[in-house]
Amino acid sequence: MHEMALSESILGILQEQAAAQNFARVKRVRLEVGPLAGVEIEALRFSFEVVSRDTIADRAELEIIETEGQAWCLPCGETVAVTQRYDPCPKCGSFQLQVTGGDEMRIKDLEVD
Ligand SMILES: [Zn+2]
Repeated sequence: MHEMALSESILGILQEQAAAQNFARVKRVRLEVGPLAGVEIEALRFSFEVVSRDTIADRAELEIIETEGQAWCLPCGETVAVTQRYDPCPKCGSFQLQVTGGDEMRIKDLEVD
């Protein structure tokens, strides 16, 4: 399950931050996830809970902010909103789309003690 690997990398970042900024506990993690990132939110929540057990992020709340997917449509020559990777252009129905945003996952901020 790739959400498990993602959770481990999130936890790794939290531990680095804790060492650098000298905090002992993470209370809340705000995570931005794009709709095209291929992340299953429920699976991510579950695996984060598992990997963070007995760590600085034990019982930390995972707040997921879903960002918008964006793609460049070649026939239209403009940026359009998409919700899935293989969606057609909402304006012209073309599949000649180049994803330009919404395929990333990043930690937006943390609430710590
Ligand atoms: Zn189009």
